[in-house]
Amino acid sequence: MISRITTFAFEGVEARPVDVQVQLSGGSNNFAIVGLPDKSVRESQDRVRAAFQSLGLSLPPDRVIVNLAPADLPKEGSHYDLAIALAILAAIGALPRDSIEGVAVIGELALDGGLADTAGALPAAMAAEAMEMALVCPASCGAEAAWSGGTVLAAPSLIALINHFNGTRHIMPAKPGPLLDGVAVPDLRDVKGQEGAKRALEIAAAGGHNLLMIGPPGSGKSMLAQRLPGLLPPLSARELLEVSQVHSIAGLLQRGQLSRIRPFRAPHHSASMAAMVGGGVKAKPGEASMAHHGVLFLDELPEFSAQVLDSLRTPLENGEAVISRANRHVKYPSRFQLVAAANPCKCGGGPGAFACRKGPACQANYFSRISGPFLDRIDLFVDAAPVTAADLSLPPPVEGTAEAAARVAAAREVQAKRYGDAPHNRRPINADALGADLEDACRLESGARALVVKAAEQLALSARAYHRILKVARTIADLDGATSVARVHAAEALTYRFRPAQSAMPASLPSRSSLTT
Ligand SMILES: [Zn+2]
Repeated sequence: MISRITTFAFEGVEARPVDVQVQLSGGSNNFAIVGLPDKSVRESQDRVRAAFQSLGLSLPPDRVIVNLAPADLPKEGSHYDLAIALAILAAIGALPRDSIEGVAVIGELALDGGLADTAGALPAAMAAEAMEMALVCPASCGAEAAWSGGTVLAAPSLIALINHFNGTRHIMPAKPGPLLDGVAVPDLRDVKGQEGAKRALEIAAAGGHNLLMIGPPGSGKSMLAQRLPGLLPPLSARELLEVSQVHSIAGLLQRGQLSRIRPFRAPHHSASMAAMVGGGVKAKPGEASMAHHGVLFLDELPEFSAQVLDSLRTPLENGEAVISRANRHVKYPSRFQLVAAANPCKCGGGPGAFACRKGPACQANYFSRISGPFLDRIDLFVDAAPVTAADLSLPPPVEGTAEAAARVAAAREVQAKRYGDAPHNRRPINADALGADLEDACRLESGARALVVKAAEQLALSARAYHRILKVARTIADLDGATSVARVHAAEALTYRFRPAQSAMPASLPSRSSLTT
């Protein structure tokens, strides 16, 4: 007789049901797991055997066959342990077979029969809820899984589950962890001077545009970037769920705690392609996906490997990171806002100790590692001028994060109305507007159109660059409360498209002096 229980295989953030079937048959005392298990799933038999031993149980003398169906879906990870153990317990009669019907199970067994933390509890619980099943998971995952709204039984150990299913001691359903609404994000008021960069940061926040700040060390580029999440509106309920699913798979949700503050990920420039866009043994999500609906901050942009930066081009365009495996593709959502910072050259490119000792070629070489198509996806290029002693002696700015965030929220509200019926995978913001909608949304005044068209012709802009200028101009007009895009809005948008004065970036970007008026 076969006993069966449901568990899940993860494909991206999707939890796909897996039927664990256990059959005891006469024959030698051995244990076989079939159905495309990877090494960690095959090792499950040793953990199950040890956990049984610690409870004073022994595996039956028969041959134990564990089938994980469907057989064509690869099974990876250690979270199959608990389902296999419970199905065997039902097969040997230690649990009533009907008690494990209607439950889905994930969890890794420790040798002493305890249950260890497992990644992916939230997507698993959501899938269980959709199948009208309760989820059984380790106690440490209960608060996270309970966010699904379904029934979650979070058990500390295998023995606790045996007692529960035998009706001797019930486990109470888990409750969701805390929701953090406002965590202390650093305030924009701490940054003295840098008015131009602050303005660009506000525009970037309002329309979800990609930003590159260029300035010498100590000019406050990282300080500015870290203040961006404070300007952005909190995650909506749908976004919170999407972000939390990715973070659950990555094992980032501490004690089931969710946060409505947008993610801010700042990978080091030595990050590999797998770390950036996902991959590795279990096709884990990368930084681009962990920054979904938030900010991906790349400090020292030219120091990143060119290959790693180019791997970000697809997520930047499609909002999706695709990881190729041997016989399939794993997809993670990755609709993030890119903020990057760079010194003007390898030497630092600032005054004093950071002065360039090699001349203009040094700057050109430094930026030549970044491909033109990557730079083409950046909407706002901005100078972060060196901070002077005079800047530091200024009184704190009158305006801080609260004031700027209020303007951003108002501009985002206008955009939400405008793109209200945007497709599911696009955010209702200017950055995600598609070409045809954009022309309608912009309502370009004739002076503005003439300016942008002239710039596009003179500078031989790509179609992508042209549309990105329109999007930024639309955001500037939204911040201004204007229904149509006037010449002044288009002119400001164009100033951000040029390479900053102090840098010699590749010729794929025009310099300000190349536009004649
Ligand atoms: Zn230099």
